Amino acid sequence: MNKELGIMEKIVSLCKRRGFVYPSSEIYGGFSGFWNYGHYGSILKENIKCLWKQRFIFDRDDMFITDTSIISNPKVLESSGHVSNFGNEIFKIQVGTGDEAITSHLRPETAQGIFADFKNLVDAHHPKLPFGVGQIGKAFRNEISPRDFVFRSREFEQMEVEYFTKEEEWKKHFENWREIMNSFAKEVGIEKVHELEVSQDDRAHYSRRTIDFQFDYPFGRGELWGLAYRTDFDLKNHNLDYFDEEARKRFVPHVVEPSLGVDRTVLAVLLSAYTEDELGGEPRTYLKLNKNIAPVRAAVFPLLKNKPELVSKAREVYENLKLETRSKQLGAVVFDDNGNIGKRYRRQDEIGTPHCITIDFDTLKDDTVTIRDRDSGKQERVFINDLVSKITA
Ligand code: ATP
Repeated sequence: MNKELGIMEKIVSLCKRRGFVYPSSEIYGGFSGFWNYGHYGSILKENIKCLWKQRFIFDRDDMFITDTSIISNPKVLESSGHVSNFGNEIFKIQVGTGDEAITSHLRPETAQGIFADFKNLVDAHHPKLPFGVGQIGKAFRNEISPRDFVFRSREFEQMEVEYFTKEEEWKKHFENWREIMNSFAKEVGIEKVHELEVSQDDRAHYSRRTIDFQFDYPFGRGELWGLAYRTDFDLKNHNLDYFDEEARKRFVPHVVEPSLGVDRTVLAVLLSAYTEDELGGEPRTYLKLNKNIAPVRAAVFPLLKNKPELVSKAREVYENLKLETRSKQLGAVVFDDNGNIGKRYRRQDEIGTPHCITIDFDTLKDDTVTIRDRDSGKQERVFINDLVSKITA
């Protein structure tokens, strides 16, 4: 039966079976355009967001981070042109009650919070141009036909940078962010990204140049991320400018914006990682996730669940590994004694765990364990003391 399913159906089914993504409100029949991330989905998402923060913000000296409110004074989205340009696509909400109620909107992009706070940032930090502000947060669009799993939803998450520069330097920074986006794609395991130069007719109202980073989804090629040159459009709309201390003059900076959807990243990562092969004559499914984002880095098993000496040794190995890897920031290590060993391997393969470590009777004699590689299924015997370097390699 499974073989007849298309890859999307298989991903959706794996996501549910293994606790990555569920339809929102499923017990009431779901709710079109809304999704819940389960345990492993949340960790995967978190790992992707951490890596984004590292590469787009913390690795650089010219970046700030922020966390602005989802709902703002209605003037923010009116001034930005969103209310008039996307009147039907943005969610209207009532803030307050009765006669006092004010109509506002759920933000359709995180960017406006950054623009509206531009003066606060400049007053607090006195940054020299060029500099940027990054933000991760939810965005909402009342999509007419939400579809293709988390690809087009009504509530989603964005990782955005607004990079402020002098007008004459925007091209240089556009190229720089373009490279960073391409290398980020590789780092999360998305190998094939196609760049599309978006024509003037198809660009958003605020953009003078846009490159769509596209991915070949099973339902066709579609946008993964966008890189836009927003000019001075947004700061001008909010009547904001910048005083350049060196030049002693006031002007409106221009903006380059790499905008990455978290959910589409998760989907492209899962699709890129999804693999079917045969192991020991049995068909198997596994996620070939990059180690740096896999929800679980290593799983520790006692060979048999009903042998207390194996279980307690396995617990000891697990606790030590957890401590050591935490100090080395390697991500999650889990203990698993559920079902037989074959089932445990299958489960870990399906969530993309790169290493499974098994404690057996030889361990009790010589402090060695087996470590199994997810992709080849091969097992190697190593000393417990060498485990950290093995799972880091
Ligand atoms: P599309 O043309 O597919 O509707 P867009 O051009 O409107 O997308 P942008 O406004 O550039 O999208 O938003 C930046 C990023 O936010 C997109 O590249 C995508 O990753 C994500 N995104 C936008 N809309 C959605 C949505 N409905 N569901 C999930 N992610 C989305």
